[in-house]
Amino acid sequence: MKPTQIEHIGIAVENLEESISFYEHILGLKCYAIEEVKDQQVRTAFFKIGEVKIELLESTDHEGPIGKFVAKKGPGLHHIAFAVENTNNALKEINAEGVRLIDKQSRKGAEGLDIGFIHPKSTGGVLIELCNKA
Ligand code: ZN
Repeated sequence: MKPTQIEHIGIAVENLEESISFYEHILGLKCYAIEEVKDQQVRTAFFKIGEVKIELLESTDHEGPIGKFVAKKGPGLHHIAFAVENTNNALKEINAEGVRLIDKQSRKGAEGLDIGFIHPKSTGGVLIELCNKA
């Protein structure tokens, strides 16, 4: 596995509209997509800076992964996503190394990307997402 770039940075927020307003009016970025990912109980908003995206994540369910994260740690940096050629193959390779995974198989994330997460217990505390390059 060899990541080709940071695809996006995921940030958990409490209020998507307020956060979009900050990124647009204070940082001068433009939100180009808002998407609900039902599977993960989130609404997402996307911005682009050069080749890297910022993905804001607002929970739609207290029991969902972002809802639990925000309840425990508060809003803030949630994950870093690396673009790989093939997410499924990368997860298989990493699994074979004995690394703890959240997803042993890729699934569909926002923007229709194949995604999978490596458990932060295995990465030094950072939730790492792998995703196919869009
Ligand atoms: Zn992500």
